[in-house]
Parts: sequence; C-alpha cells; structure tokens
Amino acid sequence: MIDPVKLPVLRAADKPQEHCGVIAVFDPQGLAAQLVQRGLSALQHRGQEAAGLSLVHSDHTHQSLRGRGLVSQVLPVEKVANLSAQQAIGHVRYSTVAVDHPDNVQPISLATPYGSVALAHNGNLLQVPPLRAQLIAQGCTFATTMDSEVLLHLIAQRAEPDFVSALAQAARSVRGAYSLSLLCDDKIYGLRDPIGLRPLVLGAFPTGGFAIASETCALTAMGARYIDEVLPGELVELRADGVHRTQLLTPSVTVAPCVFELIYFSRPDSVVFGQSAQQARLAMGQALAQQDEDLPPADLVIPVPDSGIAAAIGYARHSGIPFELALVRSHFVGRSFILPNQAERLSALERKLSVIEASVTKKRVVVVDDSLVRGNTARTIVKLLREGGAKEVWLRVASPPIAWPCDLGIDMATQEELLYRRADPDQAQPQHDDAALERVRRFIDADSLRYLSLAGLRRSVSHKSLCFGCMTGSYPT
Ligand code: 5GP
Ligand code: MG
Repeated sequence: MIDPVKLPVLRAADKPQEHCGVIAVFDPQGLAAQLVQRGLSALQHRGQEAAGLSLVHSDHTHQSLRGRGLVSQVLPVEKVANLSAQQAIGHVRYSTVAVDHPDNVQPISLATPYGSVALAHNGNLLQVPPLRAQLIAQGCTFATTMDSEVLLHLIAQRAEPDFVSALAQAARSVRGAYSLSLLCDDKIYGLRDPIGLRPLVLGAFPTGGFAIASETCALTAMGARYIDEVLPGELVELRADGVHRTQLLTPSVTVAPCVFELIYFSRPDSVVFGQSAQQARLAMGQALAQQDEDLPPADLVIPVPDSGIAAAIGYARHSGIPFELALVRSHFVGRSFILPNQAERLSALERKLSVIEASVTKKRVVVVDDSLVRGNTARTIVKLLREGGAKEVWLRVASPPIAWPCDLGIDMATQEELLYRRADPDQAQPQHDDAALERVRRFIDADSLRYLSLAGLRRSVSHKSLCFGCMTGSYPT
C-alpha cells in the first residue's frame, strides 16, 4: 500500500496513459486461467510493461498473479498450468512512463459491499484528480496511481442493491475511455464505454463457455469464435447458460471508436470495429498511392517494419512499383517509442533498424510508415537509407499528421514533442498548409513527404463514425 498523502501529483505529461489489453473468460471445464494466459500472449503488442490475471476459486474467493514484465515472464505456462478456475480475467499494460510505479499492475482488486471485485481496464479516464481527491477525503485508500482504481472505489462507495447497479452508477460518474473486464465474486463481466473508444469483442468456445477480449486475435489464440463487438455502453455477463447482454449505459450520440486502432495499434490479424485491420491498412496504402498518381514512379516501395508493412503493400499493389523489405528490424532491442528521453529513443532506433544496401543503392525509394508522431523513426530511416546509398528518399505516411496529444488511451507524446512542433517550435497551433509540410520535410530530411489525407483515411475505413481527435483536435468527450 502507498500512503495516499505521499502519492505523486500527476502532471499532464506524465499521467499514466493506458493503452492496454483486457481479457475475460468463462470456461465450464475449469481452464479459464490457462485460456486467459494464452489470450494475453496474443495481446502482448498492446502492452509490455506488466501483465496479470485474477481468477475465482470454487468458494468464490479470488486469486491474482500480477507483475511487471511480459506475459511469458509474469505468467509462465508452468505457473498457470495447475490453476483450476471457471472464471478469470487478465490484463497487459502499456504506459508511457518508462520507469513505472511497481504497484501499477492490473487486474486491481478491492473488497466491496458487493463482494470481491477485480477489474482490468483499457482506456484512459478524464478529470481523475478531483474524483480521486474527493474519494480520499471520504476515507478511501488508494493502492496505485492508476485512474482505473477510481472506478473501483466509486463502485465500492455506492449504496446500491447490487453490483451491476453500482457499476452503472460508477460508470455514469466518470468520463473517458474504458473497455473493462470485471469479476465480482464468481460473476464475470465486460463493459465498454458509451462512446466505444477502445475495442472490445465477444467470442464463444466450441466446447461451451465464452470470452471477452480487446481484439479478435486473442479469441483466435484461445480457440474461441468471434461473435460480435461489445457495443458502446453495453454490459455483457458470461454465464453457464449463455451471454447476457444489457445496454447498461445509454450510447453516446457520438459513438467514436479510435481510428488509431486501425492505423497502428491492433494486430493485423484482428477484426477491429467490424473491419480487418490488415484490409484497412492495405486500403490506406492504396489511397496514398492514388495521391501520388501525378508523380513519375519511384524504383522501390519499402515498408518501415513492422507497422508500415500492410500500407506499403497497398501502395505497391496500386502503383505497380516493386515492393521490397529493404529495412530490417531487430526484434530484440526493445521499445524505442516510450524511452524517457530523446537521446535514448534515437540510439535504440539506430540499433533497431538497418538497411540492406544492395537493395537501395542508387535507387529512388518510397518509404511507407503507418504514422509519424515525434518523427524519430522517419528521421533515422531517411539517414540510414542515404548512408545505404539511396538516390532519393520519398517518405509516405499512411495517416494524416498527428497534431494533438490523446487523452483517451493512445500514447501520442506531449504537444511539444509532436513532429510539427519540433519542426517549428514557434508554431502554437498545428497547421496543414504547404509551408508547414515543407518544414517537416526539411526536419526529416526526406526528398519528398506526403501524408494520407483525412478524406483518404475516411475512405479506407468501413466504420462511419470514428474518433480522429489526434488529427483534428476534435474529441468526442
Ligand atoms: P515516431 O518515431 O514518429 O515518434 O513514431 C512513429 C513510429 O512509432 C511509427 O513507426 C509507428 O508505427 C510507431 N507508433 C505510433 N504510435 C505508437 C504508440 O502509441 N506506441 C508505440 N510503441 N509506437 C507507436
Ligand atoms: Mg512503426
């Protein structure tokens, strides 16, 4: 337990932004813990900081295994093999703070008037500090600095006839993004916020039993069949007699799932908001190539691995320019994106990426990445390609410029760190004119730079009302 008085004050820049993965399983055969472990492994790309699972014993008591590190480290197969449970939930955690608080691991648990509650949260709640201060004034003791814990205390504080009513009241008193899996006693639930910001899907096992997961790739990994999305504001309860679906919260008039799930975050083999993530990315790459139809073709299309691969394939298919994996990515360097300072990020990137000189020398190459955030990756790649002998480097980005940091669960750095500000620190408001684009091009040192237009992005996605807040500054909440 941390003394609440000593809790660090969270500033906007270092507040925990959760872009995590969640799972819930009801398995009548008692293999819920093993299935959750398998599902979490498939969600590892959504968070590598920490992992955990909570399960229910036959006497309704809960047990949790949680820790920092990868699923394979925190929940090794041997450790999970002998756990017998019909209900379990799990979590993988991503935070932008490289050295994170050791107690910030999920699922988090609390004894409440409704029984033991365990919660796993993907998303980010808004305006948490006042809620937290109010709860502390009422005598609540916080064990973590995570926004998710506020929800747990809000549930415990409610004087409602049952857990579901308390959950509904708690959810109505917060704003922001949440896809949750929850245990209360031996009951197991999933809940998605009324805006539907983060994904959450429902699946069924052929042998009976049901699962909830952030992405369909986890359902596949567990051997479950994808049934449907959990709808915005919907509560699903996984029970022996089936899945009970309730519209617990009124869906927002602006249902707006996060487009960045389709651009970058979700695994390509997932169906996200009703669309294959891979197909969406292929379409984004194709739309990028359509924008370039006015140009003489380059010699080679090269993806920035791994996240730029699908868009680069789409670009190559549409343009007819040969596709080549001329950039090699080491999978053993670790994550560059969230390292605490710029020097470390750049050094990790240079160790992570290398160029196949024989492929690029004397060539005019189109390099395709899914997104530019701080511009570190792009700048490093242009430099490496030039050193490798490329004659011209055209950078193509399969999403519009990121101009606004996200408070709803995606790591978009701070405003000052964003590329358009780095290219011109005096620019208070993001601008999308040719002069701004030219400043960014010069900063990256590419021979040419084009982003996918917002219209092109909209055409590439099948869901008709998504959140484009990081590109437009207009957020649904
Ligand atoms: P940059 O180097 O411009 O800061 O970041 C862009 C690169 O990071 C792209 O290759 C993109 O695939 C990846 N990226 C974009 N958003 C995120 C994120 O939220 N987390 C991580 N780890 N990588 C990201
Ligand atoms: Mg990438």
